[in-house]
Amino acid sequence: MIVLEVENFINGKFVPTESHIDSYEPSTGEVWASIPDSGEKEVELAVASAKAAFKGWSATPREERSRLINKVADLLEKDLEKFAEMESRDQGKLLRLARLIDIPRAIYNLRFFASAILHDLNSSTVLEKAGAINYTIKHPVGVAGLISPWNLPLYLLTFKLAPAIAAGNTVVAKPSEMTSVTAYKLCELFNEAGFPPGVVNMVFGFGHKAGEALVSHADVPLISFTGGTVTAEKVRMSASKHCKKLSLELGGKNAAVVFKDAELDKCISQCIKSSFMNQGEICLCTSRIFVQRQLFPHFLELFVQATRKLTVGNPYDDTAIIGALISKQHLNKVKGYVKMAEKEEADVLCGDMSDGLNLTDEKKNGYFMRPTVITNVRDESRLMTEEIFGPVVCVVPFDDEDEVIERVNKVKYGLCATVWTQDVSRLHRVSHQLQVGTVWANCWLVRDLNLPFGGVKESGVGREGLKDSIDFYTEEKTICLQL
Ligand code: NDP
Repeated sequence: MIVLEVENFINGKFVPTESHIDSYEPSTGEVWASIPDSGEKEVELAVASAKAAFKGWSATPREERSRLINKVADLLEKDLEKFAEMESRDQGKLLRLARLIDIPRAIYNLRFFASAILHDLNSSTVLEKAGAINYTIKHPVGVAGLISPWNLPLYLLTFKLAPAIAAGNTVVAKPSEMTSVTAYKLCELFNEAGFPPGVVNMVFGFGHKAGEALVSHADVPLISFTGGTVTAEKVRMSASKHCKKLSLELGGKNAAVVFKDAELDKCISQCIKSSFMNQGEICLCTSRIFVQRQLFPHFLELFVQATRKLTVGNPYDDTAIIGALISKQHLNKVKGYVKMAEKEEADVLCGDMSDGLNLTDEKKNGYFMRPTVITNVRDESRLMTEEIFGPVVCVVPFDDEDEVIERVNKVKYGLCATVWTQDVSRLHRVSHQLQVGTVWANCWLVRDLNLPFGGVKESGVGREGLKDSIDFYTEEKTICLQL
């Protein structure tokens, strides 16, 4: 098999490195890309390049910045199919999903922030008694360090990159070494669009080496990190040395709360999606479903029936609903939770069984598992408290509103939740009391980039979205002029 050689992108040029990391195709288990194993030296060069480009880029009129970002979006749209295929191959996600969600959303991220930056978010006041005018201006911060995970590679990278450069920062990005290919290919589009060298730099490699060097670099005053809560602790420590601006979008243990009056068909189909989309490898996936006791047996029966129908298979196959997990190590971790359920004598109702996944021979070594439903599990179990980040969901009963709110809130995470009832007052009451950053009432994953997104508790610090991202990637200065 031909192995794709990924190179770092520094100062507008592709730069080879001495050592490399193998990147595996999740659906075959074979090496398909070779990723630079960057360290301090490469990060140093990339930061120096971004620092040198900052003066020119931050002084570039925002209309021009916006035009160039839109150009990249246009080029990406032209190559949508190619990027979707690479994303699917690199991550194991369904090609259909990459085509419908990941790449279109990356294009939208670019266009959204290219447009947002044209609108003025400054404010002013007149102090008549003092004979003075106050006003605020926003400055770009400098070199932004962007660290993104493997589950939605280009989607999440562009969610950081677009506002950062739109606001006039230059960037050094470090995508996950497991999914670096679309980020690498995006660099070609920055050159093709005519971006000045050094505005966008990408350094590929391991988090503990390249990521750590970037986070702790004295010339990088801002870090935007999306990833796991444990990694975030290290990032926080390293970033604290220089009092960096820090945004942390982290893990979750998201709950669905299903009341007995829920519109059942819609609720089941959406809970199936929210539990298993992208193999459950979305930070917003549901992994605990609380169902009011009167509805519990019926819900569980229908939910398990629907789960059994989900076809696991080749990400390129139009009939597959579940693709491959990101890596062998992650697959084993997720399967470990199913073993834990068996040890704890919880009931594994369907899922991770080795019988016929019906895969073609070339896919037999891929990282596949069946979507798994577990019940009869205690709230204190690690199955109910830890982020599994795979196609595994626990379904448990509850009796009343106060009880379920307390149980949902008991975990250390607080990213999102869904609530299912036709009682609007209840939706309102429950939504207010859940300790999460986003509540979806009678829906899931209906996102509006205009609104803040982020988590509470150990699910993160800060918000991303129209105003929040622009605020984060700028420093606001108040100027008082006495006339
Ligand atoms: P990790 O925390 O393992 O890694 C995230 C990124 O950080 C990767 O690029 C990683 O590189 C890098 N990294 C690792 N160690 C360090 C370090 N010491 N310093 C700097 N960077 C480092 O997360 P995953 O990639 O496994 O992603 C899954 C996690 O991301 C889940 O917990 C999920 O919930 C969360 N997530 C949160 C989202 C949100 O918006 N709240 C959205 C999507 C995912 P490397 O890959 O080389 O280790």
